Amino acid sequence: MMMEITTYGDPILRKKAVKVKEVTPAIQELAASMLETMYADQGLGLAAQQVGRTEAICVIDVPPEHQGEAYVELNAVAKMPLVLINPVVSDPEGTLRCKEGCLSFPDLYMDVTRPRSVTVAYMGLDGRHYELRVHGMLARAVAHEADHLSGVLFIDKLSPTQKMVSAGKLRRIKAHTASLREAE
Ligand code: ZN
Repeated sequence: MMMEITTYGDPILRKKAVKVKEVTPAIQELAASMLETMYADQGLGLAAQQVGRTEAICVIDVPPEHQGEAYVELNAVAKMPLVLINPVVSDPEGTLRCKEGCLSFPDLYMDVTRPRSVTVAYMGLDGRHYELRVHGMLARAVAHEADHLSGVLFIDKLSPTQKMVSAGKLRRIKAHTASLREAE
């Protein structure tokens, strides 16, 4: 089922996600709908708050041409797409500065520094626990989506100059979000 993407200014984007206790059919359905929505909008990742939900779930699909350095498998077979439930990111290493965008910020792309590598522990859709060491674009996507689940947005990482440069666009996105919310 396609879901509506919440955009900047919607207060749900600042809410912290709630841990998922077990994988129920409703959770599986939510993950499937999030994937469908992400693909329809050509995103590389999507977190629950971006579809108006607060379960700690995010989905990621980094296409092969963006994977660059392959991710390293610890105890999971990391096949795309990834559905990460209750992800916990740790052990950041190195830095990589790269253009980043977000489905909740249409047409805003800014350079953001992220770790080159991170470890992510999570529950899979099968209810089992996994851990992956990920690199490059995948590490960026994991860090970005895990941030969403904590109510943190990529614009929080911008320098004061970048904030100034993007202020007009941010204002327009916020105004658009407010008009949508009024129309509801
Ligand atoms: Zn995002």
